[in-house]
Amino acid sequence: MSELLNNVAVVTGAGRGIGKAIAIEFAKNGADVFCVSRTRENAESTASDVRALERRAWPLAVDVGDIESVNAAVDKIMSEAGRVDILVNNAGITRDTLVMRMSDDDWDDVMTTNLKGAFLFTRALSMVFVKQRAGRIINIGSVAGIMGNPGQANYSASKAGLIGFSKSVARELASRGITVNVIAPGFIDTNMTSKLGESVRKDIQARIPMNTFGSPEDIAKAAVFLAGGSGKYITGHVLSVDGGLAM
Ligand code: NDP
Repeated sequence: MSELLNNVAVVTGAGRGIGKAIAIEFAKNGADVFCVSRTRENAESTASDVRALERRAWPLAVDVGDIESVNAAVDKIMSEAGRVDILVNNAGITRDTLVMRMSDDDWDDVMTTNLKGAFLFTRALSMVFVKQRAGRIINIGSVAGIMGNPGQANYSASKAGLIGFSKSVARELASRGITVNVIAPGFIDTNMTSKLGESVRKDIQARIPMNTFGSPEDIAKAAVFLAGGSGKYITGHVLSVDGGLAM
């Protein structure tokens, strides 16, 4: 498969879960991947999976919410690869609790990683994309940003914010051949959802029309579609990959 042959991709939160699956699926489709993660160990693990597919990979330990860390990473990316074709802003966290109990830190931490992190990487790399007159930006939102979810006011706000952010940037960059889209996953089997108790999981499953959680690969395949030739005329779109949950 060569949908992304010789493209250079930057995937944040690539250390595990959905981001790792995206990095691997991109590599299977011919891309070289900068694997950005909070911890070096996880970034390195994904980079070695990418190399096993005979593509180039660079592990980068970066806090996406930290401007200096992001700028240093982008300098390194440009000095190593000289160009970037695809940016996936996937790094995300939850700090779930009811709004009446939510601390300032619960709010700020989620906003900083989920929303500011996407802003910082997008700002830095959109200059590169504009010079190239080409680029694909894919932001990983959530069904919670569309429907809301009790206990996730901070998380839902960050993901809804990501939709407005993406549509605005899509409008700013469309004339330069750059697309910006959101993938809104439903419930996907990763570390993030492994904390759910068995009865909560059953309740959620009963609300999903397809009656099952998705896999990280379901999201990764949607990302390949948006990043490749098939997605070249799609921008400002929110693609739900959720077994019908948000329809
Ligand atoms: P995981 O918790 O499994 O993985 C999150 C990844 O993000 C990890 O690699 C982690 O790094 C990285 N990360 C977290 N904070 C930072 C940071 N500040 N800087 C850099 N990297 C960071 O999550 P998922 O794979 O489940 O989720 C991925 C994305 O998909 C998130 O944006 C999430 O909100 C979204 N999503 C997930 C759903 C689900 O059901 N799983 C549903 C809807 C949306 P490290 O490995 O180094 O700790």
